[in-house]
Amino acid sequence: MDFSISDELTALRASFATFLEREVRPVEDRFAAEFGRGEHTEPMRVAAGAIKRRSCAEGFYAAYLPEEVGGWGLSNLGMTLLVEDAARSGMRFALSALGPPDPAAPTPLLLELPEHLRERYLTPLMRGEATMCFALTEPEAGSDAQAIRTRAVRDGDSWVLDGTKHYITNGDRADFAVVFAVTDADKRAHGGITAFVVPRDAYTVTKTQYTIADTHPVEIVLDGSRVPVDHVLGEVGFGFYAAMRFLNAGRAFIGAQCLGMAQWCLESAIAHARVRTAFGKPLARNQAVSFPLAECKVEIEAMRWLTYHLAWAVDQAAASGAAVPMLDSSIVKYFNTDRAYLVADRCVQVFGGQGLLRDGPVEAALRHLRMLRVVEGASEVQKLVISRALGL
Ligand SMILES: Cc1cc2nc3c(=O)[nH]c(=O)nc-3n(C[C@H](O)[C@H](O)[C@H](O)COP(=O)(O)OP(=O)(O)OC[C@H]3O[C@@H](n4cnc5c(N)ncnc54)[C@H](O)[C@@H]3O)c2cc1C
Repeated sequence: MDFSISDELTALRASFATFLEREVRPVEDRFAAEFGRGEHTEPMRVAAGAIKRRSCAEGFYAAYLPEEVGGWGLSNLGMTLLVEDAARSGMRFALSALGPPDPAAPTPLLLELPEHLRERYLTPLMRGEATMCFALTEPEAGSDAQAIRTRAVRDGDSWVLDGTKHYITNGDRADFAVVFAVTDADKRAHGGITAFVVPRDAYTVTKTQYTIADTHPVEIVLDGSRVPVDHVLGEVGFGFYAAMRFLNAGRAFIGAQCLGMAQWCLESAIAHARVRTAFGKPLARNQAVSFPLAECKVEIEAMRWLTYHLAWAVDQAAASGAAVPMLDSSIVKYFNTDRAYLVADRCVQVFGGQGLLRDGPVEAALRHLRMLRVVEGASEVQKLVISRALGL
């Protein structure tokens, strides 16, 4: 076993760190007051878009996509390290500089588009000029995603889609949606669900769903939405496998986000515990404060190695053409979201009242991490996968 990070990836991390300090830090400082008031204003969204385009120009944003479509063909491990570093910086604009784990960003799923449509849909995403959304979940089908009801029926040279999707991140701002619909009700997940690219003008946004976190998904309705036959991703009937590939491969990035956020919370709490005094001594001199932080360190190291191992396994699978190992992917999704939330919660406690303030360092992380325990497969769904792998 070789646990070292290559010189190339170490150099890449250093150049990304420089990018964050040069391009993101000043923007973060400029909007400090807005963050303190818990605001997410249009100028902040514009600033996030500018960071994204700068990152696209420098190559970081979609580095994990192949060179032939404008990426660097960066390994999953390489992209995972960048996501970790962005999250660990504690800058709330930092993840705007990277595609993953944002479902609005370009995805390898789009490589399954016919060649002539890549220019129209994938290229603007690679340049940071467009965004997409991933529309699988429905009011009656979340954890049990194969139970979706949205239908697609072939009509001449088109497919006609009808149904409702909800909790769709970026559905209101996306230029197009990747929509999963039933094309054969008997086969469902096993050859009966197809993925379609649906342009924004072919669906309606019906409501915004405000959440605990700073991301607010929307409900979208497909009502006789017509798309040309070439807007199918991959093979007709095999969209569910594509959805699972998308989710499994993306879990190293969610794992890395949790790992980075947990490290940021711990580092902030350690700094606070050393200087804040109560009862005549620094907080850190109480083992009731220092021991939970020691436990955080242990949880973080466990997250780190599970995450890096998954990223490595995704790279091995890609090299051999094998499927991404579902068990490893579920272990990381469950463990990292669960433990990072625990770490953030312990750190909030160390900060006391300051930990609850909107402009405090860990409050936003705590809310975001709570959300991650539900989205893209709740913890219990991951445990279902793990227990099945155990033959249970
Ligand atoms: C902020 C946010 C953003 C999202 N973004 C997207 C997106 O961009 N695209 C998209 O398609 N979806 C998106 N989702 C949907 C998300 O993936 C689902 O919410 C998630 O998969 C859970 O589905 P559900 O909410 O329908 O919960 P349900 O399926 O109703 O499950 C509720 C709870 O029941 C438990 N549970 C379910 N099944 C089992 C079981 N078999 N055994 C034990 N316990 C179980 C779990 O604790 C689960 O949390 C988003 C959701 C949120 C909140």
